[in-house]
Amino acid sequence: MTTSLTRPEIGSPTQVFIGGSWQDAHGGKTFDVVDPATGETIATVADGAVADAEAAMTAAAKAQKSWAQTAPRERSIILRRAFELVIERTEELAAIITAEMGKPLADARGEVAYGAEFFRWFSEEAVRISGDHTLTGDGKNRIIVTREPVGPCILVTPWNFPLAMGTRKIGPALAAGCTVVFKPAEQTPLTALALAAILAEAGVPDGVVNVVPTTDAAGVVGSWMASGEARKISFTGSTEVGKILLAQAAPTVMRTSMELGGNAPFVVAEGADVDRAVDGAMVAKMRNMGEACTAANRFFVHRSVAAEFAEKLGARMDALEVGPGARAGVEVGPLIDEAGRAKVQRLVDDALGRGARAVVGGAQDDGPGYFYPPTVLDSVDPTSDLMSTEIFGPVAAVVPYDTEDEVIALANDTEWGLVGYVFTQDIDRALRMGERLEVGMVGLNTGLVSNPAAPFGGVKQSGLGREGGRVGIDEFLEYKYFAIPRS
Ligand code: ADP
Repeated sequence: MTTSLTRPEIGSPTQVFIGGSWQDAHGGKTFDVVDPATGETIATVADGAVADAEAAMTAAAKAQKSWAQTAPRERSIILRRAFELVIERTEELAAIITAEMGKPLADARGEVAYGAEFFRWFSEEAVRISGDHTLTGDGKNRIIVTREPVGPCILVTPWNFPLAMGTRKIGPALAAGCTVVFKPAEQTPLTALALAAILAEAGVPDGVVNVVPTTDAAGVVGSWMASGEARKISFTGSTEVGKILLAQAAPTVMRTSMELGGNAPFVVAEGADVDRAVDGAMVAKMRNMGEACTAANRFFVHRSVAAEFAEKLGARMDALEVGPGARAGVEVGPLIDEAGRAKVQRLVDDALGRGARAVVGGAQDDGPGYFYPPTVLDSVDPTSDLMSTEIFGPVAAVVPYDTEDEVIALANDTEWGLVGYVFTQDIDRALRMGERLEVGMVGLNTGLVSNPAAPFGGVKQSGLGREGGRVGIDEFLEYKYFAIPRS
């Protein structure tokens, strides 16, 4: 469990974690973790091979029975301890998140608080798993319904919230009595490994949580999918990869939870409080530098306030301090990598080429690190590529509209359906528009919907299932029903 981080202030394990022990990868390969603020290598991590994946799956399968039999209160106490340890280590974890992912330290601390909450929430749910008891319609039979853990689970997470996307899956899985094999994104393995160390310290038994960082995502996850031992996959990432995993789940009829892409509409209605809408837009757009599936991707603003909204949002975006996330006062860090930044620039250029106006920003910064300036585009043509593509960057595209029917049609004109934001002072309009949006979550006069106490998830190609809330644990439980005659 040694660290090979080149930055002395952050410590994290850098090996694979299998069956409760830290190991080098089979074959001894490693890969570099890069600080997106500098492009420099900050750590070298074991590059998990398929043989490691197989060992992890075997460990998870072996631990499943005893973990499922552990008293709910014991699982609850372990998760509660993990919550406390994560909070206690906020500074250390935030430093790791910022170093490998780029977000400003203040945001990284926010993620630690948000991510830890999934452990606390599910520690409380672990002791509230309940069934049902009823009679058949004719009164001749009893029906007793119990709940059981689904079994070993595959967890695969993205890089944008390296801590919270892990805790959001590990929390309910462990609470339900499932063991896990966990593959974090290759850009951000350090946070996941630090989390594994905390879980072990909190008392999670050997083999219950196994973590395999790798550059061979398809090989490692593919071996788990084909193993026949995993009973469920919970994935957060792109719709493209989600579809691959859904196909791989078919042969074994594996249960799936999919949190996939988004293309969130942000609607500012006629008569809305523009200042409040700008406040909401700053959160919906700029949380995590726009690198969130919940990020507002398309701003539909009633023509009567579109110019005012764009100018005010532009002024706020322009005032943000851009720089390395570890530097005090920085509000916008770098994007994850050069490919991410090049994609944002391509989308902006396309919109500008179709007649949009850059209120602020619009051209990428030179120099080290993958920085992109906060950008507001006005009068965006709805046929622009960024209307149908997740921008995943600090770019707000404003499209003026005239009628409610028109904006609902525009908002729903996408294969995705994760979240929609509506800003209006008119309660009838708010509820009507919220009902008409084809999404799993609606932010009414707020730019933030994520909360461990709420069911997070989308419709259409944004995914299957929900994470968090009272239903979050259901994804990791099966029903069993006993038919018992009354004599
Ligand atoms: P993003 O574009 O945000 O990186 P991805 O869907 O590519 O989203 O990545 C999300 C997670 O899925 C990461 O952990 C990544 O390594 C993993 N992943 C990528 N390709 C595959 C694959 N073919 N099979 C399994 N997991 C994959």
